[in-house]
Amino acid sequence: MPKWSINDSAKVYNIGNWGADLFSINKKGNVCVHPTPNSKYSIDLKVLVDDLIKRKIKPPILLRFMNILEGRIASISRVFKNAIHENNYPAKYQTFYPIKVNQQRQVVEAIANFGKKHGLGLEVGSKPELVAAISMSAGNKLPIICNGYKDTEFIETVLYATRVGYDITIVVEKLFELERIIEVSKRTGIIPKLGIRVKLSSKGIGKWSTSGGEDAKFGLRISEIMAAIESLKQNGLIDCVKLLHFHVGSQITKIDKIKNALIEGARIYVEMRRLGVNLEYLDIGGGLGVDYDGSKSSYFSSVNYSLEEYANDVIYQVKNICDEAGVPCPNIISESGRATVAHYSVLVTNVLNNNTQTLMPDFEHILAENAKLSPTVRKLVDIYKSIDRHSLREDYHDTIQLIQESVSLFNLGYLNMNERAHAEWVYSKIIRKINSIVEKLKPIPDELQNFQLSLRQTYFTNFSLFQSIPDSWAIDQLFPIVPIQRLDEKPDVLTSIADITCDSDGEITSFVGENGRTKALPLHKIDVGEDYYIGFFLIGAYQEILGDMHNLFGDTNAVHITFNKKTNYKIDTVITGDATWESLKYVQYDASEILKRVRNNLETDVSLQKVSIEESSHFLELLDRTLQSYTYFGE
Ligand SMILES: *Cc1c(COP(=O)(O)O)cnc(C)c1O
Repeated sequence: MPKWSINDSAKVYNIGNWGADLFSINKKGNVCVHPTPNSKYSIDLKVLVDDLIKRKIKPPILLRFMNILEGRIASISRVFKNAIHENNYPAKYQTFYPIKVNQQRQVVEAIANFGKKHGLGLEVGSKPELVAAISMSAGNKLPIICNGYKDTEFIETVLYATRVGYDITIVVEKLFELERIIEVSKRTGIIPKLGIRVKLSSKGIGKWSTSGGEDAKFGLRISEIMAAIESLKQNGLIDCVKLLHFHVGSQITKIDKIKNALIEGARIYVEMRRLGVNLEYLDIGGGLGVDYDGSKSSYFSSVNYSLEEYANDVIYQVKNICDEAGVPCPNIISESGRATVAHYSVLVTNVLNNNTQTLMPDFEHILAENAKLSPTVRKLVDIYKSIDRHSLREDYHDTIQLIQESVSLFNLGYLNMNERAHAEWVYSKIIRKINSIVEKLKPIPDELQNFQLSLRQTYFTNFSLFQSIPDSWAIDQLFPIVPIQRLDEKPDVLTSIADITCDSDGEITSFVGENGRTKALPLHKIDVGEDYYIGFFLIGAYQEILGDMHNLFGDTNAVHITFNKKTNYKIDTVITGDATWESLKYVQYDASEILKRVRNNLETDVSLQKVSIEESSHFLELLDRTLQSYTYFGE
């Protein structure tokens, strides 16, 4: 057999197709991260993680690669610039970061900083997000767009912010908002900067398609827009309307859906101009997708178009329709959240199966003890010895039947614990032997593809799916998962990835594979005492804020890293994950109160001589230490 190479690993995990030229495998067999696509420079993830552990930063660790974030912002602006140039488009493009995708202050701060030279703005959808954006915008004077439902307090705050110099556009999502805006504007004498969100009849596709279409939650119908224009004219505010907005949903997988929405949106822009609304901006919302599984398809974890194609289509369609109508082209705004932040963060954590193998039973001797075995076990042993590629299917079926039989016989009292353990042991040997034969068959017969699942081992991994990758659980979205070391060795254990919550849903059983979705992730057999790490990739969008505290597993440690030529990398920021006391605080427990209560109970027991002073104080010490420590698996 030819030796396993890092190229084989790259294929198995499909890195070339989802990695956007930012991730690769180096000669040492470790995953590395490039500061820019295809850069000759890279940071070795395994070396980085080892260094972080030396700094006492424990897994799970969320790694944020700030060069990638900066690069994505630049790429999105660049592809639009190119498209504008190629199409002779007579207006500008501006990118707005929708902060709901990740509102972490340090992240938004970095985005605001990187975005300055591209004229980036922030998009918000709630009062807390508005306040966050205002705080970020102060120094940078970033423009802000407000979507989402708005009450009077929201509107008043925005109007006064406008008065004191902020550049904020309020997008009208509902007619009742417009009434309030007019009322507050009259009362305060402040002129707002307005946008209107239209409910397109074009729908997106995939999980978020209901964000568009007639029954969408947001936006004004055409007839409502007519009413809004009328009312704004009557109140002398029609010149405040600068922007037309639509958003047909996130992760639009097919380019033709985007085109349909653009055509309808651009037509509405043109018609509104003709009605005397001096719109300057067309805001096409989000929806620019990410190819999570690398299949370049319209499957919902993928997209069938590139960044360049997206930008080109936007500019071309809008120009086409405006030119036809003889109406000036608008400046284009897009609010691409997912596509901006998905790539820059990677969660790395350790697999916990590394110290159990010594406890696995070894029944090798029974293979030589044919006569003494129970008939069921003996039949299994016979299969194990005789199996070859010709008898494969029949033997597989017999094996399944025999293992079921062993359970029935056990339940009836005909098989003892020891014999059932023997059956289990031979069974797994047979399955592995079948697999070694199946692997050489190409293509693998349909019937035996599912067979590989019976081989799948659970790798217990130090993270919470609900905290760190909630979309994997909630909507079965795929995220690439790759071991960060040993990629020059064949990963010959088929696994599923279980987290450490007590929820049976906390397990990943769908993976990005060579040919799309697979039901098992090949990983290496972990040596005793080995620290074996896996990385979860492309998790920068939505996962952090959607993550919850199931079982009170809190925020993970997060580290911001930038590449530099001298020392390879620099740690910019370390954000310590939640300690146990912090997790408890979310559910209204107070650490000192806990210690006080437990101490009081213990003192009663000490006074009754049930517990010694030493035992009591040692226990309190341990409890205190636990309160101070990380919520995840330690030593
Ligand atoms: C969520 C949202 C976005 C971001 O969408 P992505 O698909 O992540 O780019 C943009 N605009 C609005 C109005 C949104 O609600």
